[in-house]
Amino acid sequence: MSKFLIDKYRSLEAYTPGEQPKDMQYVKLNTNESPFPPSCGVIEKISSAEISKLNLYPDPECRELKNKIAQLYGFESDNVFVSNGSDEILSFSFMAFCSEEKGAIFPNISYGFYKVYGDLYAVDYKRAPLKEDFTIDVNDYLNVNRTVVIANPNAPTGLSLSVNDIEKIVSSNRDSVVLIDEAYVDFGGQTCLPLVKKYDNLLVVRTYSKSRSMAGARLGFAIGSKDLISDLDRIKYSTNPYNINRLTLLAGCAAIDDNDYYINRCSQIVEIREYSKKRLSQLGFEYLDSDSNFIFARSDKIGGEDYYKKLKENGVLVRHFSDEKINDFVRITVGTKEQMDTLFCVTEKILKEV
Ligand SMILES: *Cc1c(COP(=O)(O)O)cnc(C)c1O
Repeated sequence: MSKFLIDKYRSLEAYTPGEQPKDMQYVKLNTNESPFPPSCGVIEKISSAEISKLNLYPDPECRELKNKIAQLYGFESDNVFVSNGSDEILSFSFMAFCSEEKGAIFPNISYGFYKVYGDLYAVDYKRAPLKEDFTIDVNDYLNVNRTVVIANPNAPTGLSLSVNDIEKIVSSNRDSVVLIDEAYVDFGGQTCLPLVKKYDNLLVVRTYSKSRSMAGARLGFAIGSKDLISDLDRIKYSTNPYNINRLTLLAGCAAIDDNDYYINRCSQIVEIREYSKKRLSQLGFEYLDSDSNFIFARSDKIGGEDYYKKLKENGVLVRHFSDEKINDFVRITVGTKEQMDTLFCVTEKILKEV
């Protein structure tokens, strides 16, 4: 830390991304990326002719991409905001809709960035505890007069709230924004997008990073009422109007054109997830019944941190969280069947040694 950093940032605890060690080739099951490449349409779109246009700024309005997203989900393009990863939408939303006066509420176990943005923007936030079974208690979020932020399915549990429960939360907080982060909804969850037509305080956030195999392109989008979208635009044009680069805009459009490819890849991942749950049971693990592309699992035979370390020694990366409520778990991203079989094979070996 330099002596120049101003006081309010000195105690900021930044977000820790999943590790990407370079000392050897790992089976990478720690950051919930897709194990599959983007569709052919995306790969072909990034031609040298397009690369040679990088001297020009991209379209700040992202018109073509917004139109395609709007059409796919049955909205108008004014209902769509696009961003440099969905993290940017979360950041803009905390900036736009939360403060010391207008507080926020999110689960105590959820995506780690909510707390980081809460701290960064000096928000009065409350973290509502999950129930014993790791599900979200809807009652904590009714009539709260705070901006509500919920990942659905939640991370790292993989558990979902029903659309019915989300509607209860949205309809009881008409004077607050309810942000539903649907990063993992394409793996079998239920989307609450239809509620956007009914409630002007609902913002649904999606990402290309997981179900659309484009974590490296950095692209996210939000769907909400035109007024909410214009609020996000106000922040974007006050920070970084060209937030999405030319190549990512092209890739994002091509991915929508190839939607069937991604639907297929998601079903494959769901199949591998269900297979993996069975294998984990056979190995004596317990897990939460995930609707996402990861499984949150624990074993009586080995602690979470120990298991994580032994897997890493054997070339397999998973994610471990040190928070005491969940530190006996590891979060395992669903990879290809081959990657998962490597994990199970290594796990058998590890369990024999303990
Ligand atoms: C991965 C993830 C994000 C961030 O996605 P990017 O679009 O890559 O920034 C947001 N929310 C949740 C719950 C996630 O798991």
